[in-house]
Amino acid sequence: MKERRLVACPQCGKVVEWTAQSAFRPFCSERCKLVDLGAWAAEAYRVPVADDRDEPDASETETK
Ligand SMILES: [Zn+2]
Repeated sequence: MKERRLVACPQCGKVVEWTAQSAFRPFCSERCKLVDLGAWAAEAYRVPVADDRDEPDASETETK
């Protein structure tokens, strides 16, 4: 008999079975996966990025 592996969804905490068929593992559903990814993306968005200095837009007219 196969051992069943249960994991708690990181998003909602719902205990789901971890199988090869669960494409959204460790999440319980696609929705939770998307919510978590969205939260991560929003978190990353808040981090100020100081890499814009290399943008050639500002000095475009100066270089000739
Ligand atoms: Zn979930």
